[in-house]
Amino acid sequence: MTIPRAPAAGDLAALRRRYRIERERRVRPDGGRQYQAADAEFGTYAADPYAGAVPEREPLRDTVDVAVVGGGFGGILAGARMRQQGVERVRIVEKGGDFGGTWYWNRYPGIHCDIESHVYLPMLDETGYVPKWKYAPGEEIRLHAMRIAQRFDLYAHALFSTTVTSLAWDEASASWIVATDRGDSFRATYVVTATGTLSEPKLPGIPGIKDFKGHTFHTSRWDYAYTGGAPDGGMTGLAHKRVGLVGTGATGVQVVPMLAEDAGHVYVFQRTPSSVDVRANCPTTARDVGADHDGWARERRENFLRIVSGETADRDLVADGWTESAALLEKLLPSFRRQGDRRAFEAEYEAADAAKMNELRARVERTVTDRDTAEKLKPWYRYACKRPAFSDHYYPAFNRGNVTLVDTADTHGIERVTEHGVVVGDTAYELDCLIFATGFSVGVSGVHSGKLPVHGRGGTQLLHAWARQGPRTLHGLTSHGFPNLIQMGSLQNASSVNFTHVLDEQAVHIAALVAAAEARAALIEPSRRTEDAWLATLAKDAPDHAWFHAECTPGYYNREGGGRPNGPSAYPHGAFAFHELLKRWRETSMDEALRSPRAG
Ligand code: NDP
Repeated sequence: MTIPRAPAAGDLAALRRRYRIERERRVRPDGGRQYQAADAEFGTYAADPYAGAVPEREPLRDTVDVAVVGGGFGGILAGARMRQQGVERVRIVEKGGDFGGTWYWNRYPGIHCDIESHVYLPMLDETGYVPKWKYAPGEEIRLHAMRIAQRFDLYAHALFSTTVTSLAWDEASASWIVATDRGDSFRATYVVTATGTLSEPKLPGIPGIKDFKGHTFHTSRWDYAYTGGAPDGGMTGLAHKRVGLVGTGATGVQVVPMLAEDAGHVYVFQRTPSSVDVRANCPTTARDVGADHDGWARERRENFLRIVSGETADRDLVADGWTESAALLEKLLPSFRRQGDRRAFEAEYEAADAAKMNELRARVERTVTDRDTAEKLKPWYRYACKRPAFSDHYYPAFNRGNVTLVDTADTHGIERVTEHGVVVGDTAYELDCLIFATGFSVGVSGVHSGKLPVHGRGGTQLLHAWARQGPRTLHGLTSHGFPNLIQMGSLQNASSVNFTHVLDEQAVHIAALVAAAEARAALIEPSRRTEDAWLATLAKDAPDHAWFHAECTPGYYNREGGGRPNGPSAYPHGAFAFHELLKRWRETSMDEALRSPRAG
């Protein structure tokens, strides 16, 4: 396909045309169906490389107060907040060999969190821990997850290397029966599902993927036994190897510089370039972040959330790429309520967007010396179409002799895997090792994919109950017909780039619900009318952002180019306002979520 020359800065019509052409190069008729799950069929992709030998144990038949499905930050925070409320037996059931969730599975070289550590790491006030870097390495985050679990005694009842296979409400005993793949069948008065939004790794559904005879794995199952080294480098096993990396999202951007350092040769198979902004990571002290009084971390993360939610704040404590672009994002992100009329919004928004994207394209131009490579690395879409990435090492890696960028946009990605490597267009790339940084089935947790069946009152299955009219909840957390079941996540709740903050607010809320249900000998179960009222609240100011995503380059934000349906999927006024709403609701309306066990 012939690509027009770069539009002149300020020529918005030309820029619009270029964005459309670039989008058309990438849209595939098979949309979201182009992927396949990296599940049991792909043993090496799905297996846990970190757990070691899993010890045998007898199946459990006992009773606990709360069963939590998932030991990532959601499950840990729910457990910790309930323990703070005096709940005794909290059993977290986790597929991995320890706590950590995303940070347990993702240990790829270069892994860092791109949200400031002092607002991302939860419970810093409670644990007294002060992160050492502005952006923490994954291992520091994983150890912090374990620190919280230790501090709140969550190891005592935890089950690791165990997958929950079904949840069934037993009316007679007013408890849930929790079944697992280790033969357990125990009871729990309450169940919290915290199965995560990025927990199911995916692979391209392309011919030959099983034929590759070299070494291969997904970035969320990094095989250090093969590469050698650790997340901070030293992969001596790759010294003379030809390594292919598929995918240049936030993960790929962090992995490439590390592979460039250690591998014989790296082929980076790119389909859509990420926008990669300045990182400027640095060591920090307690003084730098004002960690000198109780509640410093809560203040800092609330300040961050205010700013990235588009609220006003008297100061900017984090002062980084997220908060500095918040004013811009306020114009760019179509989910903001003030969007109103599309044309008025577009007029204001488009120029700001173009300026930001021009700045990011200029960064590539300044850094990458080979002209052809620099052109291919430039992102041609609107800023909010894809999640931005941040790195000071990614672009310089392409100036090394042992790194080759292979652009796959015209072939809609790598086309085929063979015994010996990867095929793109007319070229076959021979590889010793093929690594997939191809992401996850976003938002598809065990509960919502149907992998984890949930049977509520009268045996009704949750997904069947929702099949006709869509999900029905109060605050995204509880549902009629599913007593004492609480679901964590962003559905009909709120979302933020700092997702651990959202999870912690949910955890605080869950602990309050459980305490109230215990105090009143009630079940946690909203009425249909309460659900209706919540759905109406979500629908009332739901922004019309379908047009925006319909014009974006494909990705998981817009169901691979298929557009995003309008509808009440999250609270329309942002996470900060949602947390305020929850606080008020706890003070005045808790009864709406409770039901007398004797009620019909
Ligand atoms: P992503 O889904 O973001 O990226 C997947 C990459 O694989 C894309 O570049 C995609 O290209 C590419 N791809 C998919 N299929 C093919 C194919 N057939 N041929 C070539 N390329 C292909 O996954 P990530 O693991 O990067 O990120 C997952 C999530 O984790 C994101 O939400 C991310 O923001 C988050 N994350 C957060 C971090 C943090 O610091 N907070 C760090 C790392 C990840 P295309 O874009 O064209 O689809």
